[in-house]
Amino acid sequence: MHFSILAIGDELMLGQKVDTNTAWISGQLLERSLLPVEHRTVGDDRAQLAAAIAALAATSDVLVITGGLGPTEDDLTRFALGDALTPGRELVADEAAGRTIERWFRRRGRALQERNAVQAQRPTTMRMLENPNGTAPGLAGTHGRCAIYALPGPPAEMKAMMRDHVLPDLPVTDGMRVVTGIVNAYGIGESDAAERLGPILARDRQPRVGITASAGVISARVLSRAAAGEAETQRADTNQRIERAWSPYVFGRDETTLAAAVGGQLREAGQTLVTAESCTGGWLGKMIVDEPGASDWYLGGWVSYANDMKSRWLGVGAELLEVAGAVSEPVAAAMAVGALEHGPADHALSITGVAGPTRPDEPEPEKPPGLVFIGLASRGDDDGPEVLVRRFRYRGDRAAVRLRSARTALQLLRFRLADVREDTPLLWQYPRPGSGGDP
Ligand code: ATP
Repeated sequence: MHFSILAIGDELMLGQKVDTNTAWISGQLLERSLLPVEHRTVGDDRAQLAAAIAALAATSDVLVITGGLGPTEDDLTRFALGDALTPGRELVADEAAGRTIERWFRRRGRALQERNAVQAQRPTTMRMLENPNGTAPGLAGTHGRCAIYALPGPPAEMKAMMRDHVLPDLPVTDGMRVVTGIVNAYGIGESDAAERLGPILARDRQPRVGITASAGVISARVLSRAAAGEAETQRADTNQRIERAWSPYVFGRDETTLAAAVGGQLREAGQTLVTAESCTGGWLGKMIVDEPGASDWYLGGWVSYANDMKSRWLGVGAELLEVAGAVSEPVAAAMAVGALEHGPADHALSITGVAGPTRPDEPEPEKPPGLVFIGLASRGDDDGPEVLVRRFRYRGDRAAVRLRSARTALQLLRFRLADVREDTPLLWQYPRPGSGGDP
């Protein structure tokens, strides 16, 4: 079974609007073990639309089209469908659809606009699909062996009509089951991650595995297509192989975030966390509080941006700030220890750094943009807290530096809670391992 999706609209073509319809429809197909094979986007151009419809219908069993069914000049889908399916024949007015549109306006106390009448027109060989949430009905028909469904563009209308008219028509399965999974890791580079997977990434392998990267999070996407039962077993086996290859950087599967992974560890251990942030300005706290149930393990934190705040709230010595500077290893340590004591909590994470931006014409200063110290203090035995500080140099703009800093802090805590060696190499650590002494 070949499924294709055609999204229509200049705003999609020009990148002014993100095509969420195609992503949602693909997800719905995948949930039913049906694999989409082609996505296409075309602007509001009748000839291009007709050509795209004809081409996709020739190679697909099912084609779902969204957009361009409205009443305005640039809504050309019905005309293009006519050109492709019934060339040379005029569209016909569908009486039932006309009455429905009229009723829609009457119920809302509005006069039927003449231009809305076009929405009751269809190619002679197609039927109308009722739209419970708007004026534009959908269209359904066949071209050769391909079943075609044209749905309106507004996502809420499209979704309701997919559920009412398209999904019930689709085969439940063609005997094969498709299941997907994601394994997420943080702290290794994309090429290192790919190398560790080796033959698992072969394109003809079943299950198929691909890698994506987003602000340091590396994800292996597993797509397993096999007989029912077998597909799940193969996915589980591949997930485990990836987890072994990427150990100890893997923090969770599917939608799990680093904060959720750390939260799970802390909840299990019955422990708590506080945060002391400078350059991240509360981003770490936000990432934590985004997780439902964070109150079980997160007590709160300080956004101690100015030196005075670091001293007053966290007890960082004014002299230390003066001598070492706010962006330094001892200050990161003092922030973490101060937060741990003031919390009081079992663990404290601290972040202090230069968020940037990098100015390429500037000579390399001693504390360059992107330089960040991350501290972790944990309640120890009588000898005082166990303190770790690591130094990183992130590339990118302020947002990139700050997001990566917050994620790295969580990974450091995850390592400690999982008894991973604290000198485990991490992406962007500074100086890089093997690059010789201090920069
Ligand atoms: P309408 O009757 O509202 O004109 P239509 O079928 O003509 O319906 P469009 O005019 O193409 O649909 O789009 C209507 C709205 O839906 C616009 O805001 C558009 O940006 C949005 N939209 C269209 N296609 C998509 C898509 N693929 N993903 C997300 N939004 C979309």
